[in-house]
Amino acid sequence: MKENNPSNRVARRSILGATAAALSAGALGRVTAVGQTREQVKEGEGNNSASNPGPKNPALQGLNPNSYMPPSTDRGVIEPIWYSFDLVHRRIQDGGWTSQVTSKEFPSSQDIAGVTMRLTAGSYRELHWHSANEWAYMLYGKARVTVFEPNGKIFIGDVSEGDLWFFPTAHPHSIQGLGPDGCEFLLAFDQGNFSEYNTFLLSGMVAHMPSKVLSQNFNIAETGLSNLPESGLYIFPGTVPGPLEDDRKAVGGPAVASRLDYTFKMKSMRPLLETAGGSVRVVDSHNFPAAKTVAGALFNMKPGALRELHWHPMSEWQYYINGSARMTVFDSAGEAHTMDYKSNDVGLAPAISGHYIQNTGNDDLAFLALFKSDTFVEFSLDQWLRHLPVQMTQQHLHLSPTEIARIPDLAMNIIPASGASGGSDPQ
Ligand code: MN
Ligand code: MN
Repeated sequence: MKENNPSNRVARRSILGATAAALSAGALGRVTAVGQTREQVKEGEGNNSASNPGPKNPALQGLNPNSYMPPSTDRGVIEPIWYSFDLVHRRIQDGGWTSQVTSKEFPSSQDIAGVTMRLTAGSYRELHWHSANEWAYMLYGKARVTVFEPNGKIFIGDVSEGDLWFFPTAHPHSIQGLGPDGCEFLLAFDQGNFSEYNTFLLSGMVAHMPSKVLSQNFNIAETGLSNLPESGLYIFPGTVPGPLEDDRKAVGGPAVASRLDYTFKMKSMRPLLETAGGSVRVVDSHNFPAAKTVAGALFNMKPGALRELHWHPMSEWQYYINGSARMTVFDSAGEAHTMDYKSNDVGLAPAISGHYIQNTGNDDLAFLALFKSDTFVEFSLDQWLRHLPVQMTQQHLHLSPTEIARIPDLAMNIIPASGASGGSDPQ
């Protein structure tokens, strides 16, 4: 039966109000037919129903307590909303590594494919270009990036932890790890099925052109081209470059410099919103004109804090940087699924679906929420309810005007833990 059938809700509520002792085994059987209640789970624990004597993977169970022992409000089966970069193959080469989560690994994500990449000091992600737009966030260390525009101008910039970049479709670019220990970063492409392993590589292009054509094209004798790479380099070691200004001068200075800045200092920007529970930073084409197809938000949340109930017109692709969280996703068929997230995990809130995010750990939670859009758009449940005529909200939710006035009239709100913060069961 569906959650949005009001009679089921009333039935469940009245059962929730009953004491566990009052629920006979027969009553429990009937409850099962309309869905699982928290009391039912507790009763199950008491009478051995939730025991699991067969084979199990305790490490995975421990990572996802909210799926293993779901909240009583979860229902049905919705599309996968969790994946992790720690589940996928790591392509390790001299100079660094790559791992990717695309729609092949995580079919629910049709808008965005993600990559994490490490480059040691001096190592390159080879000069390349590709079909998708590339949005990136620096997770560790420092890098030098270049991007070339069709008007002949070039952008050369340095990025460090907390900075992002955006490289448009077809624009050739490079990434190089700087000292002392190179870098690690997240890439997000605005095509769910995009593979980082199918990009156009400089080495590939020269390897697949007739040598006479290359000779004529470069104005270099064929004999001079005998050392060109014969296969893709992709990631390879190099020499740490000198100061940024030297590189900029060496290529021709302001005369050839791009007018557009393709990098942005996201973590050090002033938050759009700061509450007792945490902060929100939003970067989209309004404050970072280069980012025409990906909007991003960086959330920092204290232990126990709740990112309010809300939804978006487009799907939300999340990357968890630090801490522990849970999210419940509610879809229009009355189905809901709660999952747990840790650092290096990927989350997905399908387009339009209602959701919240809660910090369930003892540490601060940091995560990125990305959207295939030029603008960050969000509908706040709290703000909606506060901007309706009071009688309308009252008659829908059976709340008094005094109670309705307590609902925060604030979009993108991060609500601090009530009482002592951190560590306790958020149930
Ligand atoms: Mn790229
Ligand atoms: Mn969201």
